[in-house]
Order: sequence, then C-alpha cells, then structure tokens
Amino acid sequence: MLINLQEIPAEGKTWKFDRKTAELNDFLSPLIGKQEYFADLHILPLSSNSGAYEVRSSIKTQLKEQCSRCGDDFNYQLNEKFQNILMPSLDTPRDAKFAKPNHFSDLHEEGPDVVEYEGNTLNVGEFFYELVALAEPTIPMPPADEKGNCSICKKTFKDQAVSYDSGAIEPVHPFASLKGLKLN
Ligand SMILES: [Zn+2]
Repeated sequence: MLINLQEIPAEGKTWKFDRKTAELNDFLSPLIGKQEYFADLHILPLSSNSGAYEVRSSIKTQLKEQCSRCGDDFNYQLNEKFQNILMPSLDTPRDAKFAKPNHFSDLHEEGPDVVEYEGNTLNVGEFFYELVALAEPTIPMPPADEKGNCSICKKTFKDQAVSYDSGAIEPVHPFASLKGLKLN
C-alpha cells in the first residue's frame, strides 16, 4: 500500500492495519507468518512545502523465536511504538528504499530517527517490515516465572542467566575443558 504524502491534510491522518484489513499481510509474513497483528500509523506534515512529516507508529504482534536459554520455540510478544521523521530523499541510490534503516535501533535513546522517502509516497508495507525486523530481539528470551524459571519450558536458568555472553568476557583457561573430559 502506498500513501500519497501530499494528500495528507495539515492536521495529519491516522490509519489502522490488521490481518483483516490485510494491507501489511504479505510484507510481514516473512517475519510473523500468519500471526495476528495490530498496527497504527499517524502522519503529520511538519510544515508546508518542507516535505518533512512526523510519523508515529505502533505494532503489536508475535514473532516466532527460539529461547536463547533453552532453545525451545516460543512466541515473542512484540508491542512497540516508534517515532520517525520522514524526509524527502535528495540523492538515493536506486536500490535503497530507506536510507540507513540501522539507525532505527537508536530510536529510543536519541529521539525520532530520520527515514528518507522517494517521490511523494510512503510504502507502508516496507515501512512496517523494517520496524518489525529491527525490533526483533537479538537475544530472545521468554519471561521468567516467579520462581526464576523459564515461563515456557520451566527449565531453571537462574544461575546461568548471563551464560550466553559471559564466554566472550571471561578468559577461559586453555585446559579447563579437559577437567570434565571422560575417556570412553
Ligand atoms: Zn526456555
């Protein structure tokens, strides 16, 4: 779905998308499959003729992930809000629809991030695909229950909650692995 930015009234415009309205289904399917999703989009022209727009968006859905602790599959609850500034692209390479999407990840610390657009349109499917892809956790973990166990598999991870990254920090004795070695 393409939104013609020039047709957005001065007071802004709001859209809602979900699996039934279907505009984003094909774009999001590589990330969420057939999961339900609820997305909001609000676009506000910042000043006349500047070509800049404020974009507030949110999406609630589930991502299929593997628990970083136990490796079991679980549905990661994604519920994120985003704020971006849309700016007309001055010089965009032919194959880059959104320049520097990696800046999205700094969003929460540094305020709205700038997303460039080409022509007069915003491709909503591509826009939300980028947001969801970048909101995907790098170390997915289901929440812990009150006992400190994985809420999905009930395995305890209390003592090893940071084991996935401690290996990179703690020096490993070259012969440490021999200690537990048993010869058959
Ligand atoms: Zn688990």
